[in-house]
Amino acid sequence: MNPEQTTEENDHHIRELKQKINILSELENHSTDKVNKLQESNKNLKEKLQQKSLSLKETVQEKIFLDEMSKNEISKIQAIRKKYYLTIAVAGIVLAGVIVPYSLYVVTLVGEEYRVQDVELVTSGYVIQNLKGDTIDTWLSWRLVEGDIMHVNIVDGHKFPEKAEIIKNAILSTETIEIDNSLLHKGPKGTTSVYYLGWAGALEKSSETPTSFFIPTKFDVTESASGAGDITIRLSTDRSGDAYSGWTKSIADETQNQILKSEIIIYDVDNLTDNQLTTIMRHEFGHALGLAHSSDPEDLMAPTVTTEFPYISECDVDAIVGLYDGAKKSEVICEK
Ligand SMILES: [Zn+2]
Repeated sequence: MNPEQTTEENDHHIRELKQKINILSELENHSTDKVNKLQESNKNLKEKLQQKSLSLKETVQEKIFLDEMSKNEISKIQAIRKKYYLTIAVAGIVLAGVIVPYSLYVVTLVGEEYRVQDVELVTSGYVIQNLKGDTIDTWLSWRLVEGDIMHVNIVDGHKFPEKAEIIKNAILSTETIEIDNSLLHKGPKGTTSVYYLGWAGALEKSSETPTSFFIPTKFDVTESASGAGDITIRLSTDRSGDAYSGWTKSIADETQNQILKSEIIIYDVDNLTDNQLTTIMRHEFGHALGLAHSSDPEDLMAPTVTTEFPYISECDVDAIVGLYDGAKKSEVICEK
């Protein structure tokens, strides 16, 4: 090999080497660039991932929050619903509790307020005498002409003004009351009958039915010591020997079955309660009009008044109608 040839070859080598170095350097540059780019993109990706993760976390958080909220809402709604149903149930129970006793109250207690507790054993007697003074046993009634006023005289009224007022009311009241039939064992609970507090009201009712004799309906009540009057009422502080609270004597024209005068005596008047006086007065005035005693022990006209409802009954009203229409009997017959 000649030297020239060797040098040339070397040069060639060197060139090649330089070229390789260049390529390598180029390559290195290129790869560094790539690495840088990769690192950059990696970083971007990481950031993106972090962002994604963050937003995901937020989303999860939000979901949890929403879940929590909706749970709260649901439980709120359930609570409201529970409250609502509870309210309805309670209202139902309360209403049932009110309505049932209320209807029972209404059914049971019509007229219950008219019960009087202190009447017990007010005993009454009555007697009919003819003009000769003999005791007779027959039916009697007043004979009036239309428009006649009956004169009633409370002979000792001035001595007992408060008692006189009670007596007047028992004669002149037109007030009516309604009482459940079950309280007087006359009928089922929920059915009622009318009762009269005074004879004026009861007789007005009686006179609605046409009768052969006029039923007295108009009364003039006075207080005169003279003793005059169709019906006289004496108030005595004495006790009756037979423990009567009241006594009525009617003087009659027995040929006509006509009452000429009726005399009532109320005994032991100082010791009578207002209810007892009212009761005995209602009862005795029934005799003064011609009624005998009642077949019903719970009626006002029972011989011994034991009822706690001592008012003038429809049965008494009917008895007056019968008596003044020629039924020829004065007993008060009450059907139960
Ligand atoms: Zn009697």
